Amino acid sequence: MPDAAIDTQRMEKIVSLCKRRGFIFQGNEIYGGLNGVWDYGPLGVELKRNVKDYWWRVIVRERDDVVGLDGAILTHRAALKASGHEDTFSDPMVDCRTCKARLRADQLPEKNGVNQCPNCGGRDLTEARPFNLMFSTQLGASADPDSIAYLRPETAQSIFVQFKNVLDTARKKLPFGIAQIGKAFRNEINPRNYIFRSREFEQMELEYFCRPEQGLELLDYWLEERLKFYENIGIGRDKLHVLTVPDADRAFYSKGTYDIEYAFPFGMQELEGVAYRTDYDLKQHQTASGKPLDYFDEETKARFIPHVIEPSAGVDRTVLALLCEAYDEETVTDDKGKTEVRTVLRFHPRIAPIKAGIFPLLKNQPELVTKAREVQALLRPLMNVFYDETGAIGRRYRRQDEVGTPFGITIDFETLGERDPALRDTVTLRHRDSMEQERIAIADLPERLSRQIR
Ligand code: ATP
Repeated sequence: MPDAAIDTQRMEKIVSLCKRRGFIFQGNEIYGGLNGVWDYGPLGVELKRNVKDYWWRVIVRERDDVVGLDGAILTHRAALKASGHEDTFSDPMVDCRTCKARLRADQLPEKNGVNQCPNCGGRDLTEARPFNLMFSTQLGASADPDSIAYLRPETAQSIFVQFKNVLDTARKKLPFGIAQIGKAFRNEINPRNYIFRSREFEQMELEYFCRPEQGLELLDYWLEERLKFYENIGIGRDKLHVLTVPDADRAFYSKGTYDIEYAFPFGMQELEGVAYRTDYDLKQHQTASGKPLDYFDEETKARFIPHVIEPSAGVDRTVLALLCEAYDEETVTDDKGKTEVRTVLRFHPRIAPIKAGIFPLLKNQPELVTKAREVQALLRPLMNVFYDETGAIGRRYRRQDEVGTPFGITIDFETLGERDPALRDTVTLRHRDSMEQERIAIADLPERLSRQIR
C-alpha cells in the first residue's frame, strides 16, 4: 500500500466507484458541472442519512441534556454581522495576472521562495485581499441594502439566536446543549478534494452551554465523546489525529480548540472542530440585538451568560472518510482455482446504505421468488434491503460487496424443504467481509440482523 498522504490512485478509484454505483454525482453534470457542488445518488443518500441519524441518536435522543433545533438557512444580516462573519469570515485571495485565476493566498506553491500560480506557473500575482465566503441573497422584490440576507455559512448561529426560546420552552438547566444538522454554504475559492471542500455542504453541530468553570473540562469530555462516535461508525482512533490548535491559530475568544483529523488519501485533514468558545457568541448577539440572552441560576440567584463548547462536524467529510476507510480490494480464489480481484466497501453495518441483499437462487422458479419476496417484506420495515434476482449468485454477491452490503440472504431449494424438511424456511446468510455462509431460520433474521445494524 503506498503512502496514504499521496495516494491519488486510491482516491480516483473511490471517486469512480461512487459515480458508477450511485453514491455521488457532480452537481449539474449534464450542463458541464457546477464547481464545488455535489449530488448524492440513491446509495449516497442512504449512507449520509445513516451518519446523520446515528449522530442525532447519540447526541440528542439518548441524552437528557441535549435538545434539537432545525433553523432556517436564510439568515438575518444583523445576526451574521454580530457573529463577526460579515466582517471577518474571509480567506486571503490573490489573482494571477497571467492566467486570471483566483487563488487562495495561503495555499500557493512556492519556488525558490517566490509564490507561483499553480495553474500556469506565473509569478505575477496581485496583493492578497480578503474575500468573504458568504453567499448573499435578496429577500423580496426591493433591492435596497436592508433586504440583504445570507445563506448561513454554519448552522451554529441560529442556535445562539434561538437560545432564549429554547431555554424557555425546553426548561433545561446548565449544562445543556442544542444540536442541529443542516446545510451550510461557503463560497470557497478553491473547492477541491471531491466532497471534502465544497460550496454547499452539511454540518452536524452541537452547542453545549455550561458554567464558565466547567468549560475546559467539558471541552475534553466532548472530544472524547466525538472520538467514540467515529469509532462506533468504523473509524478507529488509530486512524484519527487530534490536533491541539496552538494559541496563535485559535480564535481570540476561544480558550481551547481541538481539530479531529483523518488521514484522507490526499493527506491528514480536518474532519471536525471541537472548540471552547467561551461566552463570545451569546454576548455578541445580546449586545447587537439588545435582548437578554443570559441564564438565571435558581440556586445562586445569579444571572450570567453561559459559556459554550462546540463540536462541529461535517457530514460530507465524514461520508468521505467512511468511503476512504471502507474501500478495499482483495484477491480471491473461487472453487475452480480462478483468482479475481474483489472490490469491497467494508462499512460498519450501522452505516451501510443497504443492510442485506435478498437473492432467490433462480429467478425462473416461482416458489423461490415468492419466498424471497416474503423475506423482503419481513425485513423491509426494519432496514433497507435490496432484492436482486438477476445474474449468477456469485455476481450478485460481488455487486453487493462493492457497495458495502454486510449481509446476503439466499433463498434456495433447501428453503423450500425439498431435500431435508428440517431445513424448510431456513436461508443462507452470507457475511460480506469473511464471505462465510451459515444457515439461519427466516424467523430469526429480524432479531439477528437488527442487533448487528443498530
Ligand atoms: P477548513 O479549515 O477545512 O476550511 P473550517 O475550520 O473553516 O474548515 P469550521 O468552520 O470549523 O471549518 O466548520 C466545521 C466543520 O464543517 C469542518 O470541520 C468540516 O467538517 C465542515 N466544513 C467546513 N467547510 C466545509 C466545506 N467547504 N466543505 C465541506 N465541509 C466543510
